[in-house]
Amino acid sequence: MLAHWREIGLFDQVKNLRKGSPPWVFYEGPPTANGSPGLHHVWARVFKDLYPRFQTMRGRHVPRKGGWDCHGLPVELEIEKELGFHHKDDIEAYGIAKFNDRCRESVQRYVGDFAEITQRAAVWIDTKDAYWTLSNDYIESVWWLVRRLWDQGLLDEGRRVVPYCGRCGTALSSHEVALGYREVTDPSMYVRFPLVDDDADLLVWTTTPWTLISNVAAAVGADIAYVRVRDARGGRDLIMAAARAGDDVEVVARLTGRDLVGRHYARPFDYLPLDDTGGRVVAADFVSTDDGSGIVHLAPAFGADDMETARVEGLPVLNPVGPDGTFDATVAPYRGRFVKDADEDIIADLDRRGLLVRRQPYVHSYPHCWRCGTPLIYWAKTAWFVRTTARQADLVGQNEIINWYPEHIRHGRFGDWLAKNVDWAVSRDRYWGTPLPIWRCVEGHDTCVGSVAELGELAGRDLGDLDLHRPFVDDVTFRCPQADCSARATRLTPVLDAWFDSGSMPSAQHHYPFADRRAFEEAFPADFICEAIDQTRGWFYTLLAVNTLVFGETPYRNVVCLGHIVDGDGQKMSKSRGNVIDPWHIFESFGADSLRWYFFASGSPWTSRRVSEEGIREAARKTLLTLWNVFSFFATYADLDGWSPTGESPRPTHALDRWVLDRLDVTIAAVTEALDDFDALTGATHLATFVDDLSNWYVRRSRPRFWKASDAVAHATLHHCLVATAQLLAPFCPFLADALYTALTGETSVHLSDWPEAGRDVDRTLASEMDVGRRLVGLGRAARTEARVRVRQPLRRALLLHPGAELSDDVRREVADELNVKVLEDVESLAGLMSWTVVPNFKALGPRLGPRVNQVKQALAAAAGSELKQALDEQGFIEVAGERLGPDDVEVRAREHEDFALAQEGAWAVAIDLDLDDALRLEGTARELVRALNDLRRVVGLALSDRIELCLDVSSAPRSAAAVDAHRDWIKGEVLAVSLETASLGPAASHRHPIDIDGERVVVELHRS
Ligand SMILES: [Zn+2]
Ligand SMILES: [Zn+2]
Repeated sequence: MLAHWREIGLFDQVKNLRKGSPPWVFYEGPPTANGSPGLHHVWARVFKDLYPRFQTMRGRHVPRKGGWDCHGLPVELEIEKELGFHHKDDIEAYGIAKFNDRCRESVQRYVGDFAEITQRAAVWIDTKDAYWTLSNDYIESVWWLVRRLWDQGLLDEGRRVVPYCGRCGTALSSHEVALGYREVTDPSMYVRFPLVDDDADLLVWTTTPWTLISNVAAAVGADIAYVRVRDARGGRDLIMAAARAGDDVEVVARLTGRDLVGRHYARPFDYLPLDDTGGRVVAADFVSTDDGSGIVHLAPAFGADDMETARVEGLPVLNPVGPDGTFDATVAPYRGRFVKDADEDIIADLDRRGLLVRRQPYVHSYPHCWRCGTPLIYWAKTAWFVRTTARQADLVGQNEIINWYPEHIRHGRFGDWLAKNVDWAVSRDRYWGTPLPIWRCVEGHDTCVGSVAELGELAGRDLGDLDLHRPFVDDVTFRCPQADCSARATRLTPVLDAWFDSGSMPSAQHHYPFADRRAFEEAFPADFICEAIDQTRGWFYTLLAVNTLVFGETPYRNVVCLGHIVDGDGQKMSKSRGNVIDPWHIFESFGADSLRWYFFASGSPWTSRRVSEEGIREAARKTLLTLWNVFSFFATYADLDGWSPTGESPRPTHALDRWVLDRLDVTIAAVTEALDDFDALTGATHLATFVDDLSNWYVRRSRPRFWKASDAVAHATLHHCLVATAQLLAPFCPFLADALYTALTGETSVHLSDWPEAGRDVDRTLASEMDVGRRLVGLGRAARTEARVRVRQPLRRALLLHPGAELSDDVRREVADELNVKVLEDVESLAGLMSWTVVPNFKALGPRLGPRVNQVKQALAAAAGSELKQALDEQGFIEVAGERLGPDDVEVRAREHEDFALAQEGAWAVAIDLDLDDALRLEGTARELVRALNDLRRVVGLALSDRIELCLDVSSAPRSAAAVDAHRDWIKGEVLAVSLETASLGPAASHRHPIDIDGERVVVELHRS
């Protein structure tokens, strides 16, 4: 199919067909071209494909520009691993130009893999026309956006405590931090800070022992109540918050935080010199008594609250930690060690000096680098920020007009995220990224450059050929354009957060505003984006932030958030667990359509989805294979009868034809509504139900009309249903749908067709009667199964109880036929199907009536049980032998009519009359014979239309002999025999076939006539 599509240029044909139609805009959230694509990529991509295909068939022009996220840490890390690098120094020694070349090559390699899997999954995203965030054009557009932020005063350099990865040597944004939380156990400890002018110690709690080296103050809450308690182990008194002291302490004194402020203590470590401004108690608002001791140690270099308090209190910032996250030479014993790795030795040192009161493991959720897994530290550094908090109200307001699927994301996950918005740290001290377009002269004047042309003008040369990446862009310097300044300006070294790149895609993918501006302006905002749910803190957020800040508007209207996929047991798929499902394996063994169908039809897309091969196989079998079988059935008989479509809509009179066309219309309407509402599961479920109805009711009931009657209206009806089903299926399973559609219509492709319209007035009466009929058939089948009467044995009658539901003759005929009964009779109540006897409850009546109970017993036995039951049901009592008896006085015993097999459901029931006479038995045998002969036709390789001459040896099979006599012509018709002889055939031979009919041996000889 793919080869065929390629050959006829189908993708371009579809594009051209809808050109000029009203657009329906899809934005591709660019996959990070790093690592081979996995099943979860296919999961997201098929949803990105479903709705654009649907809208295209609805007549919209749907651009599907692909995109690749090329920059950023993930790519750098991959190359570092390849080259065996551990630190940024290694990269600089290797050479930034060479390093970035390798990053570029790596991206190109993976892009190829992604393009291939995209095509194989029948996902129509245009990978040939994709945007690459590494291209000069893309980078230039990002610069333009940065400049817009700069002009609005929304770009800021600040020394702040930021989440920082020591291994990667760069700060992370809050949404990156949110991606990497892990449950870990850290040491938590209570430490003594001895007061210098008193024989008491402050009790301080911390979970980051390594920060104690940089301690400059201890913070208390001014109004918090503190206590001074005796140390149970005989040490100096301890001071802590009253609320944290517990009950079994001996309180020596009570005081408030205010009493403690200004007092000096001996710092736990003195590697770093500190003057009198430090080592004292200060008051701070953030101190609480929720955990710890109510006294917080302050290390301003490593905590945002600490830093703010230090600013207010004029405390120094002591930072002995380098950009690689290790202690520097000022802390000699720990020099070169990653700070968190020094925790144990620091604790041991405190313990030796009697300063450790208690330690315990502390389990908490701690942020790690989402790419390399190193625990992050909070570290004071200079970074560039987008001041999203200044526009928080706009972000929140725009969120209100986005349609989220599922809806709860708006005020849940995403709304919460926006409510806690912090400024976006966008600078990265790295190499492979969009360079921050800011140049600074030695006087400290900053120039933000918004285009290559502008940079060229400043530099005084044509930069049209410049690779905008590092290190080449770093070589461009210019004279500071500030008035009265002529110092050299050089670029600040950071690159931009790669999430800024992807958030810029609506305009940058069209090289806005440098290329044709309409391409962007006509495609903004998007009607539809779709990614996994974690993008609420990733792309969904950065897209909203960049575009709201620059263009004042949300860049997307509808967003579908997918849950994550897990294995069949609900476990996350990972290489180490060995439970990863390779999408290529699924494509090769089940086909892409099976996987797609399973993704759409077997569960909600919003929650974690279990994926197993068994599940995929089962989903495909249930619906796709069933549909294929219906198609084969149709094709076989259309071929036999020489039927071909006339192009006219069928004008059915037969109830089954009318019914199935109505069902089709209802299905078209339901699938359309579901897909309009981005509800793949509901759409797929309606479609699956229709395929089931088509196969297990329409075709099943209509077989004779194809098989014997060559009914042209039936052919036309089934053809119409299959064509429309193929169209409805097209966005879900593009390959199968196209195979069906082209075979049925001879047209070029289902994907060039218009979505079917539900046009007819549905006959609701017929629909509900057919439902009634099918429900009664279900009960009748259950009754037959229960009584173990084989399906082919005709039975005299079925009695139907279906209160409140009508049944027309047309539908009755189908029910009788399907249940293989001669007559259907309606009954008014169960009374016709069951009998009841009412007997005394001796436990209740014995003591009350004494010996008279026997009279009652006889009277009950003599009365009609069903009338007694009815009276009891209706009036709550019966009068027998002069006694009034209530429900507790008697016992009602139900007995099924012995000639009936009964199945009940609620107030409904079907009873099959099992009483057989010879005529019915003979007919049953004749049907068995037909079934066996038709099996035999297949076994010997006859074509469906072959006529045969038939000879049966029934000399030792008297029942079969009688059946042949009674039903000769009917049997001939059912097995396409031009003649049917009975004769003694002598010993078995290769062309004689013995068959077993109801325990009798019949020998068959048949020849093509
Ligand atoms: Zn890292
Ligand atoms: Zn200057």
